[in-house]
Amino acid sequence: MRVGIIGAGLSGSIFYNLMSSNGFNIDIYDPSLARGCKSVNFIFSDKKDFLIVKKVLKIANLDIKDYIVNEIKKVNVDGDDYSISKKVFVLNKLKLIEDLTPRTTIINREFNPVLKRFMTKVIDSGAVVKEFTTDAETKFYDLIVDASGCAKVLQMSNESQKHKNDIRTCQFLISCNDKDGVDKFFIDEIKIQKGKPMIGYTWVNPIGDNLYHVGCAYYKNDYELWNYLAKYSKNFFGGKCNRVCSCTSKINGNLISESFIGGVYEKRCLVGIGESIGLTSPVGQGNVYAVYSAYILSKLLKKYDVDEAIIKYKNHIIKNFSELDTYKKSVKNFNILGISKFLKTLYNVPTTKFMKILIKSKF
Ligand SMILES: Cc1cc2nc3c(=O)[nH]c(=O)nc-3n(C[C@H](O)[C@H](O)[C@H](O)COP(=O)(O)OP(=O)(O)OC[C@H]3O[C@@H](n4cnc5c(N)ncnc54)[C@H](O)[C@@H]3O)c2cc1C
Repeated sequence: MRVGIIGAGLSGSIFYNLMSSNGFNIDIYDPSLARGCKSVNFIFSDKKDFLIVKKVLKIANLDIKDYIVNEIKKVNVDGDDYSISKKVFVLNKLKLIEDLTPRTTIINREFNPVLKRFMTKVIDSGAVVKEFTTDAETKFYDLIVDASGCAKVLQMSNESQKHKNDIRTCQFLISCNDKDGVDKFFIDEIKIQKGKPMIGYTWVNPIGDNLYHVGCAYYKNDYELWNYLAKYSKNFFGGKCNRVCSCTSKINGNLISESFIGGVYEKRCLVGIGESIGLTSPVGQGNVYAVYSAYILSKLLKKYDVDEAIIKYKNHIIKNFSELDTYKKSVKNFNILGISKFLKTLYNVPTTKFMKILIKSKF
């Protein structure tokens, strides 16, 4: 079976690794040089989550311990410290992704199989003809896997509909020797926008070696986010630190139930894994879901025919991740109790504290 994977981020790299050792003929596409650097935290909602990721990496002959650069035990929310009840690890995601699927195995370009391109060509008679063509006409795959994250290449709706729930992010990598002892995760400036499924906030995340991942996610434009974060980090670090690098991005806020998870399109099997199908929580976590969904799809494809595997995969995703949709709907509807309960399960901060923050957070 010939498989084409769109994207070699976390989910695409896991999927490629798990499938390529099993006799599948796979091409994986990605034009990005810094795959996976925008996010570093892996939050495990329970021990089972941690064991699954550990197991998946073991199947890929990797040891999760080799990628853990920090364990976070405390969170500071709006000025107060709390002990986190879950396991929160900072993993070296760049190294993990490279070890799963080395850059040299990747076709270094975008792949947009359902994007129609307008072409002109000269036919035998010498006439110039105009036509629409797609990548899929030039290369045939039995299965195309969308692992394109927030680009959501295989989601069919028009671009503005497709991205209307995405929250924009801006992130800096800061190097600072003067902040010894900052070993907790900071969450600040929580903001909810009615009708939108994602929670806006600012974070400071210690990732070891005097480095900090500082970022913010809001429904604002990149320019506003950048200026805001520059001021925020200057204030936080006292202006004595260096910005090593910076970038902007987006996180998919779509509901899973409204996403195209898999099916047949123009006689070709298509399926999505990871963030492309809405596997994100309202605070933008998607790493564990990316690993898990890639693993489940690979397992089903090894056992069943492709169309049967896709149906089983769709059912599995809808059944096992419906909670993410419920949480996003709470945020959309500004259901303060629902949101506070979700945040409490993550960070062990009392529901009443979050309720107070949320009441003043709406904008
Ligand atoms: C700033 C930020 C912070 C985050 N923090 C956290 C966190 O702390 N914890 C957490 O769990 N999650 C976090 N996330 C979310 C997490 O990064 C993603 O959910 C996760 O990486 C999803 O994996 P993925 O493989 O689905 O997509 P990605 O890892 O985004 O990979 C998608 C890949 O597809 C490629 N691509 C896109 N379009 C095409 C195309 N047409 N052709 C070929 N390739 C293409 C891209 O270049 C990219 O490499 C964060 C996200 C952001 C933006």
